[in-house]
Amino acid sequence: MKDITIAIDGFSSTGKSTIAKELARKLEYIYVDSGAMYRAVTLYAMQNNLISKSYFHKDKLVQDLIKINLLFRYNSELGFAEIYLNDVNVEKEIRNIEVSELVSKVAEVSEVRRKLVQQQQQFGINKRVVMDGRDIGTVVFPNAELKIFMNASAEKRAQRRFDELTKRGDNVSFDEILKNIEYRDHIDSTREDSPLKIAKDAIFIDNSNLTLGEQFNKVYCLAQNSMNSN
Ligand code: C5P
Repeated sequence: MKDITIAIDGFSSTGKSTIAKELARKLEYIYVDSGAMYRAVTLYAMQNNLISKSYFHKDKLVQDLIKINLLFRYNSELGFAEIYLNDVNVEKEIRNIEVSELVSKVAEVSEVRRKLVQQQQQFGINKRVVMDGRDIGTVVFPNAELKIFMNASAEKRAQRRFDELTKRGDNVSFDEILKNIEYRDHIDSTREDSPLKIAKDAIFIDNSNLTLGEQFNKVYCLAQNSMNSN
């Protein structure tokens, strides 16, 4: 079986990371959540008063990029790697609705993208990686052996995100989540630099009516086929 690179792209809250994590575990590959990296840079900008709903000091953030150190550390209890921003575990904080509301603005900045894409490419230098995001199959790993593009209706995605956040105790409304998802879909797919689009060689999966098990089986079979092909 050959070593491959697996790129999973798609709109917000399509369940990419759940599938990607599980797939990486089963294949004993590295899993990288590229969205967590954009979220961590956004958190840095929030903590340093560089961004809010009413302002964005983009140039200052670009200047500060050199001070932003991101790394993933494997947590054996959880079975995946958590993200650290300047040596602080921010895995939980970056999922807050406040970060979700600002992250797409930060992800539009080309200098931010350049820095993060470079680091993402390093993670995949020896293949054996499953990475999820928006531009993995188009920009980060255009030669990935397996590219998957996942989507589901905005309502289904909002419901999933709502369930996830309320389960961990966040006080959020379904409507604000739905609005945020639609807002991010719009910015992510219309931005100038690396917009979210389906790579021409990607396999499209609409998971609106698929269980997690069905999705996983589908993706796992595709991975096996790709690893066994020449
Ligand atoms: O995947 P997740 O929803 O956590 O991503 C958060 C945001 O980060 C996305 O809405 C998008 O703006 C940005 N992102 C990106 N490119 C990636 C991954 C995420 O622009 N590869």
